Amino acid sequence: MLKVKKKAKPEKIILGEDIYILWQDGYESHISYFDLRDACPCASCIDELSGEKTLLSNSIPKDISPLRSEYVGNYALRFYWSDKHDTGIFRYKMLRDFDNEQ
Ligand SMILES: [Zn+2]
Repeated sequence: MLKVKKKAKPEKIILGEDIYILWQDGYESHISYFDLRDACPCASCIDELSGEKTLLSNSIPKDISPLRSEYVGNYALRFYWSDKHDTGIFRYKMLRDFDNEQ
């Protein structure tokens, strides 16, 4: 049995068919590009005051993909998307919980 750490961090990230994240505790996440782009938490996709999503899902290209990713501090990842959007900061917790929320 894998022991789930509260603050698991990504050990390895592979941008392939989807986003594959191997966490330091051995857990593996697969997240679809479209779903993650659709869940972008930045101020232009979510209304900061109301917390409501302002991004229109149908405005996202179906073939969206991240060109690259980078670490943000010690808590998040930033993706540079093929639709030129790069302001979303995806916290580890959000990524870790992502496939459970689908
Ligand atoms: Zn965004």
